[in-house]
Order: sequence, then structure tokens, then C-alpha cells
Amino acid sequence: MGPLVLSDELPTSLADLLSNTLILRQTAPYLPVSSIRNLSRTSKALHYVVYESPEAFRYLDLSPVKSAIVPFDEPLDAGGINWRAERMDEALSEDDFYSGPLRGIFSRLEKSHVLRSVHTLVLDGLSVTAELINELLTEERYNVRILSIREIRHLNERKLQQYIRYAVRPSRPAGTPRVKGIYFFGPRDPAPLPASPTTKKPSTSAVRGTVPSQGAQISAEWNHKSTEALNAALTRNEEKWYRSSGKMIPKRPSHEWGEILQACEGIITFDAVLCRGPRHDPRNANIKNRSVDGNLHPASFLRPAIATIALGPSGCDSCHSSPEGPSVFGHSAPAQFPLLSPVPLHGSSVRAAQIPHTAHGSAPPPLHVRCEDCLKGRWCERCHKWWDEDCYAGSIIAQRTELQQTELMEDIQTNGTSHLIPKQTIKVHMGLCVDHCLVEEMMSGSERTRMLG
Ligand SMILES: [Zn+2]
Ligand SMILES: [Zn+2]
Ligand SMILES: [Zn+2]
Repeated sequence: MGPLVLSDELPTSLADLLSNTLILRQTAPYLPVSSIRNLSRTSKALHYVVYESPEAFRYLDLSPVKSAIVPFDEPLDAGGINWRAERMDEALSEDDFYSGPLRGIFSRLEKSHVLRSVHTLVLDGLSVTAELINELLTEERYNVRILSIREIRHLNERKLQQYIRYAVRPSRPAGTPRVKGIYFFGPRDPAPLPASPTTKKPSTSAVRGTVPSQGAQISAEWNHKSTEALNAALTRNEEKWYRSSGKMIPKRPSHEWGEILQACEGIITFDAVLCRGPRHDPRNANIKNRSVDGNLHPASFLRPAIATIALGPSGCDSCHSSPEGPSVFGHSAPAQFPLLSPVPLHGSSVRAAQIPHTAHGSAPPPLHVRCEDCLKGRWCERCHKWWDEDCYAGSIIAQRTELQQTELMEDIQTNGTSHLIPKQTIKVHMGLCVDHCLVEEMMSGSERTRMLG
């Protein structure tokens, strides 16, 4: 480290403390990027610590940064149209327009020689084009390993799919793609709980020549951020994939994503994994798709698909396992484990993002996840029980048309009892388990009718 020339106003210990890599690694991710920059302005020593240490910008969350947001995003008001028109006149492409703010930030970071220190980059909710993501995946000037692009705007998803396919092609250059993990399918991490009214968020618009108060501001902000981090830790939802949480991905991903995840196996990991249900096994591709009555054969082959439903650790309700078997962290192939939310603050490896944190260090629970098609007619949407292919052939009813299902439903209702449901095999009807949730639904339905009548 160079000679320390400290201003008198700041305690020597802060610069000393932060020049310890481990301490900086643990603390920097809790500070917004504006505070890190303010901190660097308070003394030469701190400037040195911030800009010379690879840790200060290792985790960079730009989602709350105002200058990263496209002005007049949408809806375009009159002013917005003008603003955009002015820029369009300057022969800006759509990509330039929507990724302009982020490109501006990246080039400033590059000038300060810290862009390559960014290993975890969070762009959730921002305007991010497929072209920009492609640059992050492939260009030498970036060194991002974990990229979070959940709920981003102005994304051409088909283009992104093409770029990712190309980035993982077998003839790709060694060491590419740089990005090893992408958060894309899940919802953004919940915003930290609002601070109590007494802890007013300190202003970051520091005025020149007020170094002591700037230092005080930063330390106040630091405290505020630690509280937020603690709240986030208390509400962390990273084990959700391991519980019977039901639908984990709000919008069903297009079927192309299944093939892309397959192509990315072992190269890029996502916050979702492929369904391993037996119907995706190519050995089943020969099963005739149509059975006698024209319905899909219950075992017919399915293309690769993303598992969107978390089934919990217990497996099938009858045999407590599944034909494909659960994924067990530390034993099964790493590609079987999704990146967990929230994006880890202190590590930028795929493993750090995948490892499920369990209470008292107990063994991670088995992971059962499947796609919607593999659970059709065999998963109760209410109590989340399910039955696998070995224990239940699957109700043909689940494959019938909406009209046929409604007719059956009416039959059940007029008779008022559940024993008229063909007893034999049907375990799930209209998304509810027949034994429990469907009966409960019927009862509450007739209760309502009685009360109204
Ligand atoms: Zn079973
Ligand atoms: Zn499936
Ligand atoms: Zn149920």
C-alpha cells in the first residue's frame, strides 16, 4: 500500500480497517454505490482503499441507482416523446437508447479502472437490452460471474436466447462465457423493510468542504444499511425451492428456454433448473402420443422444460420418492440445483449461490421440482400433495376437455357427496386432491349456497 496521507477529520482506524480485504469484502456490499464513492472522497487513504481494492466494487447493485434508469421510460408523456425524439435524431439505435444509462455507468467505472472488479452485477428492474447482456457475457472488459436481470425492461427475449445459445456453442473461445450464473426467471428480491421513522435516511448529496459531517453521514448510512441487511436476512426466501412452495416462477417460461438450459448445462447456471420427470427421458420418445380415445398418452414424451413447481422434500405422497429421485446437494450433479434468492453478497461463485442454508448446519433437504406438464392431474394446487408415475397412472380426466370436466363437476355437485366420484384412481381433479381439498371445496360451496338460500 502507498504512503497514507490522511486528513485530520477522519479517524485513522477506518482506512486501516477497510484496507483489510476481508473486512471490506464483508462490508462493501451493504453500501449503495453512491456511499462508496462518497467514502472515497473523504480522504486520500480511503480513495486508495476504494479504487485499488478489488473488493469495493465486487458486488454492484445498480437497481436502486437513479442514473441507471431510462428517463421518460413509459408511459411516454409529451416531454418523454420529445426527449426521445431528440435522441433518435442523433441516429441512436433502440439499443443505444434503452441501454444508454447503463453503458454510461459502465464506461465511468472503466475509466476508474474498477469495471473488471465487478464480479456480481445486479440490474433487476432496469432497462437492459439483449445486446448489453451479450456484451456482459462475452466482452473482455467485463468480468461479471453472477448476473441478475430479473424483471428487466425493454428486453427482446428471443434475441437474448440467440445470444446465450451462441455464447455456449461448443466452438466458443476458451474462458467464455465469463458469466457463470444468471438470475432471470424468479421474482426480484423483496425490497428491505422500510426503516423505522426515527432512522431518517441520510442524504447523500454531500456538500464540498464538510468532510466531518460527510463522515458522520456515511456512518449513519452504514448503520441504516446494516439494519436493512439484517431484515433481508430474516426474510430470506432462499430455501423456497426446497419447500413445497408451489409455483416458483410467476410467468411460465417459453418452451425454447428448456432447450437453452439444456445447452447451458455445466456452462451457465440459472435461478431455475430443468424438470427431470420421466416423460422428458428420450427413451420414452417412442411411446405413441395418442391413445385409443384420442387423448395424449399419459407417458408420452415431453421436450426439455423448466421445472417451475417446488414440491417439497417429502416426494410423492404414496412412496415418498419419485421415479427420477430427488436431487441431493453435494451428491447430485451441480446442474440440478437452481441459484437461490437473494443474490449472495459475499461470494460470486455459482456454488455460493446454490448452496441451501439450513438451520444448525443440518444436511440440505432433498430437492423435488417439476414442470407443470409432468404434474398435470397429479398435484394438488392447494395442499401441494402429489403422486408420481409409479404410484398413480394419472387421471385421464385431467386430460379431458374443459367441458367434460365441468360436466363431471356438475354431476358431483348435484349428488352432493364425494363418494360418487369414481373411487378407483382419481386423486386430483381440477387441480385439487379428491380426498381432501376437493371435498372441502364442495362443502364450502354448498355451505355458501345454503346461507344464500
Ligand atoms: Zn410414488
Ligand atoms: Zn416435466
Ligand atoms: Zn389437496
